[in-house]
Amino acid sequence: MTQETTEHQPVKGPRIKKGLVCVNTGNGKGKTTAALGVLFRAWGRDMKVQMFQFLKHTGSQFGETRAAKKLGIGMTAMGDGFTWRTKNMDETQDLARAQWEIAKAAILSDEYEVIILDEFTYPMHYGWISVNDVIEVLRQKPHMLHIIITGRHAPDELIEFADLVTEMREIKHPYREQGIKAQPGLEF
Ligand code: ATP
Ligand code: MG
Repeated sequence: MTQETTEHQPVKGPRIKKGLVCVNTGNGKGKTTAALGVLFRAWGRDMKVQMFQFLKHTGSQFGETRAAKKLGIGMTAMGDGFTWRTKNMDETQDLARAQWEIAKAAILSDEYEVIILDEFTYPMHYGWISVNDVIEVLRQKPHMLHIIITGRHAPDELIEFADLVTEMREIKHPYREQGIKAQPGLEF
């Protein structure tokens, strides 16, 4: 990577204001929590924010779900807790598509300034939702709306289209090193 690409935004020059399409991908931890950080930051600026969680169990009450409720932020999970062991893939796919229809309506409604599509790379990666259809909707998004998509295996077409792409890279994870499983507060 060249020096220029790692430097911060220069102070001089035209300031373009537009909503960005951001992707947090990679195998390291922090994709969802980084998106939540933006949600928190934008909420602090009284911006209208919303998070749609894909795959995670419908009605899940994670730490972030509880915080969102307290703060008055819309956050809904729709899924059946998909893992590679999931047997009823039809239902998993149907729930992901249903959540996409809801998220799509929210994106096009022009009612929001930040929308997070958490774990949304998977339905595209597995081919349940067409990445081209997603990009078509992203093209039509309101000009100032920021969208953050999280999850591993972001499709190349999405990476190409996005304005900001960050790859989380695992250097060390307590599960791998010590068999320590997800803990409340830190991970859910
Ligand atoms: P987080 O929600 O903590 O920001 P994430 O969104 O980057 O994590 P996901 O792929 O969505 O990561 O997985 C969420 C869960 O998997 C978390 O409990 C997280 O600690 C765990 N996890 C993330 N990366 C790894 C890894 N490299 N090895 C093992 N477990 C991981
Ligand atoms: Mg995640």
